[in-house]
Amino acid sequence: MRVHVDAQKCQGHSRCYALAPELFDIDDYGNAHELNDGVVPAGLEDRARLAQANCPEFAIIIQE
Ligand code: SF4
Repeated sequence: MRVHVDAQKCQGHSRCYALAPELFDIDDYGNAHELNDGVVPAGLEDRARLAQANCPEFAIIIQE
């Protein structure tokens, strides 16, 4: 599984970072980007889905 943040959609709420800091980091403005080239480590798939479901801008893309 891979995650990706669409920088055009991200509005910097940082919810993804709050829910899954293993998968996302944020810049000084709260805008997020994926860690580890977006590769989701085994066991964190549910966390990736939770972050996606809680992104109000639908900015998180998951590839299974
Ligand atoms: S929750 Fe969505 S809009 Fe907010 S920082 Fe994360 S990707 Fe960006």
